[in-house]
Amino acid sequence: MSRFIVDCMLGKLARWLRILGFDTIFDCSLSDEELLNLARSQNRWLITRDRELAAKGGYLLKAEGWEEGIKEVLEKFHLRERIRPFTRCPVCNSLLQGIGREEARLLVPPIAFSRASKFAVCPGCGRVYWDGTHLLRMKDIIDKIGGHHEKRKVKGEEPQDY
Ligand SMILES: [Zn+2]
Repeated sequence: MSRFIVDCMLGKLARWLRILGFDTIFDCSLSDEELLNLARSQNRWLITRDRELAAKGGYLLKAEGWEEGIKEVLEKFHLRERIRPFTRCPVCNSLLQGIGREEARLLVPPIAFSRASKFAVCPGCGRVYWDGTHLLRMKDIIDKIGGHHEKRKVKGEEPQDY
């Protein structure tokens, strides 16, 4: 089981689980009861920092900070072999669909279009993604999360999109 539902305090963790390809529900309008019910009915791990909620049926995240949090989740649920980065929309959790260059031409800003080689669109929210500089930064972070510390390090940069 590698599907998740993440409580509202852990937005960055949820976003990164999606970036790494894992089906992750993140919805701050859900109550604790709804989180627990969804976790049960959809066979998802509920990840939380709330001891009470964890005691009712969730996994209590111990790590401080989002990077350590991701590492803890990857370890705990044995996910490292199943990472499929950039296959899922970090905003709405839908699986991305690759699109061709011609199709992307009208959807991507001209400068980005001329530099990028891969394009994808989210069928859920309509966002368009391409391989740009922020994608490279994210790859560095993924390497770091994956434990390859000897590779180039990223300092304090927080990609907004990819
Ligand atoms: Zn989306």
